[in-house]
Amino acid sequence: MEKFIIALDQGTTSSRAVLFNSSGVIQAIEQMEFRQIFPQPGWVEHDPHEIFSTQYEVLTRLIEKNKIDAASITALGITNQRETTVLWNKKTGEPVYNAIVWQDKRTASICEAMKAKGLSDYVKQHTGLVIDSYFSATKIKWILDSVPQAREQANNGELAFGTIDTWLMWKLTEGQSHVTDYSNASRTMLFDIKKLMWDERLLNELDIPVSILPLVKPSAHHFGNWNYKGINIPIAGVAGDQQAALFGQACFLPGEAKNTYGTGCFMLMNTGTDIQYSKNGLITTIAWGLDGKVEYALEGSVFIAGAAIQWLRDSLHLIDQSKDSEYFAAKALGSNEVYVVPAFAGLGAPYWDMYARGAIFGLTRDTGKDHIIKATLESLAYQTKDILNAMQEDAGMKLAGLKVDGGACANNMLMQFQADILGTEVQRPKVIESTAQGAAYLAGIQTGLWKKENILKNRQIEKTFLPKMDDSQRKKLYAGWQKAVERTKGWVD
Ligand code: ADP
Repeated sequence: MEKFIIALDQGTTSSRAVLFNSSGVIQAIEQMEFRQIFPQPGWVEHDPHEIFSTQYEVLTRLIEKNKIDAASITALGITNQRETTVLWNKKTGEPVYNAIVWQDKRTASICEAMKAKGLSDYVKQHTGLVIDSYFSATKIKWILDSVPQAREQANNGELAFGTIDTWLMWKLTEGQSHVTDYSNASRTMLFDIKKLMWDERLLNELDIPVSILPLVKPSAHHFGNWNYKGINIPIAGVAGDQQAALFGQACFLPGEAKNTYGTGCFMLMNTGTDIQYSKNGLITTIAWGLDGKVEYALEGSVFIAGAAIQWLRDSLHLIDQSKDSEYFAAKALGSNEVYVVPAFAGLGAPYWDMYARGAIFGLTRDTGKDHIIKATLESLAYQTKDILNAMQEDAGMKLAGLKVDGGACANNMLMQFQADILGTEVQRPKVIESTAQGAAYLAGIQTGLWKKENILKNRQIEKTFLPKMDDSQRKKLYAGWQKAVERTKGWVD
């Protein structure tokens, strides 16, 4: 009988289920969007029931539409939006509050208080993270402090906390499994990434009872079973979305990195079994637990990447569709060196200046729309280089090639410029569903369907972009970018 693996890809705006055959080839995808809830400026919530019901719906629809026999499903893999926080009652299964989404800023003041208490170094040393409302810890505290009776129930051992993987597994196993994997645990800001246990001091500081926390397991592990039509299907692979993408891109060796070009860019570099702390404001995270060990990664993000292309489309109306940027950029003639620095909301890693603002440099009388479009595209590549430089410096290792995915990696001109400006080859895989692929791989490895070596061997590259630019040109262009960035700093008071 043909064997299948199904990956559940629970994202920020939609739930997806992806069917892989035993060769790791995608057979079908189902997807459903769900509501984004904005109760106040800066607050972002999801309904945990909707997260589960949409995820369940796409899973069962995928099986039924494709006439898959339940017995032929070897395993489920789960990958999820990270950090998003759910607390529920263990007896009733009822959430005590909506899921607080990673983007939610309501706990900024709790973070400020932690910083004022001098906890920044401790948090970095133990969790690898920078104190920020992004991570789960302060969201848990907020729910315990703000929802009537929540703290009392938590102290009585009645509540459970989970990131979205944990919530889905609780629901799929009908309350049998209260678990997570190392990659998700490392995003809570409560997990000691060296000792591999919940951090007592941080739990005390935030007054979070340890009884609400899930068990933490390797990313390839038998997490529990989903009973479907009388058949037990194991949940066998779990990783947070960016780590799953790193795994899906087969970045198995130290120095291998992937960059996802979406609205923002998410970059992760495998640093192996050593924990590397960043001096440039990047974060250290657990990549995955596998083969009896844990491997780490450095992570950095670009806030405005594809969003800058949307700005060309929606605010400047220079293009009708994002992909048209390639056509117009190709028409930009002359040696006109225009730079667009899309510091619309300040500068992130490695510059960290929230007072910077966007600017266009190098305008001359013959600068046209094509040049501005080209420079905006190039800004994605320059920002990626900024972060990769910081990563290489922090990790003390050289980038062994960049693997790419995400919507904007379809742009050939951008990918060629990326290879040129990095001086490193850029690989675009045939399957750019890296996130679901990573979760499927983990589940397939756990259930003996696949081995890491086969995954590497079977991986198909759609196109490799080789650097063609000479060194002096690369240095000159990058120096221009750095000069431009310098001049955007401290623009607003
Ligand atoms: P997200 O998951 O963040 O929504 P996607 O991976 O779907 O993002 O990528 C969409 C982003 O990529 C958008 O910001 C869009 O403007 C940009 N984009 C998509 N296609 C192209 C292209 N061919 N060239 C440049 N940018 C593109």
